[in-house]
Order: sequence, then structure tokens, then C-alpha cells
Amino acid sequence: MTPKIRVEKLQEGLLAKRFGKRILFCHEVGSTNDWAKELAKLGAVEGTVAVVEVQTAGHGRLGRKWVSPEGGLWFSVILRPRQHPLEAAGLVFVAGLAAADVLHDVYGLVVETKWPNDVLASGRKLCGILCEMSTTGEKVGFAVIGIGVNVNFEVKEVFPKSLASTATSVKDELGRAIRLEELLRALLERLESVYDLLSERGLPAVIEKWKKYASFLGQKIEVTSGNEKSRGLALDVDGDGALLLKLGDGTVKRVHVGDVSLRRE
Ligand code: ADP
Repeated sequence: MTPKIRVEKLQEGLLAKRFGKRILFCHEVGSTNDWAKELAKLGAVEGTVAVVEVQTAGHGRLGRKWVSPEGGLWFSVILRPRQHPLEAAGLVFVAGLAAADVLHDVYGLVVETKWPNDVLASGRKLCGILCEMSTTGEKVGFAVIGIGVNVNFEVKEVFPKSLASTATSVKDELGRAIRLEELLRALLERLESVYDLLSERGLPAVIEKWKKYASFLGQKIEVTSGNEKSRGLALDVDGDGALLLKLGDGTVKRVHVGDVSLRRE
């Protein structure tokens, strides 16, 4: 069977200078983030990509399962950020902005970002992002950006009912399939340029651009953080990536990246 992602074809005309110069591809692994972390520990250079057709144990935040059947784009990029770990935690916004830009600018999809780590279309999850980091003291050894995009399948055909009602795919949104290798090429190019923006101008510059997709801002939302639920008005996302939530009593709560899920009321 011809693989759905032909690495040489993808690398032909790839404009990125570092991202995607090395691409490891196989049909199936447990999780591309786990694979990439192993590669990073073995010394893989920045920009190395691990991509597969199927993940059998894809995971999201807090160990939640990420369903990854054939027809989707499941990949991870290895990074060696020079930033302090606190600033590097903003990589989730780098990934979200790059994915939203590509899906919007290249494929014409109307997308929005859901704080902190998802990209939605028609109010449903189209793309999931999981960033992981290995740090020693004040230094980041390596980071891995994992991106999963539901692409060439209809969610009602492949996902269990409960998930099909909260997820969508490029095919569902556009009514047609697209080429996975073209999507991956565009994502690698955009990821590299947004990552460079992070290095050159810092996280606030990335967040500023990310916010143009953040249509939850100004809306009443519910934030779940561990066992605690808070309702309020989503005021802003600050330059550190924290969500500012105005509570019923008028106080403003700062919710930090990573420990929150968010539901529109
Ligand atoms: P959150 O949306 O809370 O940030 P995660 O990023 O951790 O969640 O993603 C895991 C959740 O995403 C799962 O609990 C499930 O509800 C949902 N999910 C799993 N696989 C997919 C998929 N392929 N497309 C859309 N949603 C998915």
C-alpha cells in the first residue's frame, strides 16, 4: 500500500530551514510524542519530526486518550528551546497559532482557538496539541510539540458517538479530502516561523497573534481546574499565557497554562 505521507515528496520544496529536515515516518506507533521524546533523549536535532498514519495510544493532557485513526495527521516536532522553562511553556500557543493560521490561510477554514491547547471549527475540536518538556533546573533539555489533526475521515464514521458530537475533521468541514503531506509541509513551515517569533520577540508577541482566533474572549465560560470549577467572563489571555477570568464578585482570577479545561456555558 502506498503510504499516505511520502517523506521525500513532502521535503521537496519545503521552505522551513530546520523543521522537517529530518523526518521519521512509520505506519503505526503508540504515541508520536513518546517516540519523539525517545529520539530527543538519543540526541535528535531540533526540528526532527516523528509522523505516523495511526497512533494506538495517542494521549492528550492528563493522560486523556487521543483517538488517532488512519486519515488523520499525527506528528511531533523535537525542539531545543533556549528560553527559560516558564517562557518555553508558551510553546502550546506557538503550536495553536501555527495550526490555526494554516487551517485558515491555506485551507480557508473558519477556526477558533480554545484556551490553552485546542483548535476548533464549527465549535468542535479539529486539532489537539500536547507540548511536553524535559527540564534540568533553569534549562530546557528538549521539548516536544505534538499536533493531531482530524483530516480525511468523517468523524461520525470513525469515532464513538460521544466523541463524534464534540469533534470535527477537515473533510467534515470542507466536504473533501486534502493531501496530508501538503498539510504537514505547511504546518512545519508555519511552526518554524512562529517558533522564531517566540525566540525573537517573546511570548507576548505570539499570544497577541493567537488572540485573533480566541473567540471565547468576552464570553461567559466555565473553567475546570482540578476539582475546582469557576464561572466567569473570559477577559483576556496575558503575555504569560494565563487566562484572566472575571468572577461573579468582580475579582479577576488568573488561571495558568496547563491545568484547566474550559467549557462554553
Ligand atoms: P482538552 O480538550 O481538555 O484539552 P486534551 O487536549 O487532553 O483535552 O484531549 C483529550 C480529549 O479530546 C479527550 O478526552 C476526548 O474528549 C477528546 N478527543 C480525543 N481524540 C480526539 C480527536 N481525534 N478529535 C477530537 N477530540 C478528541
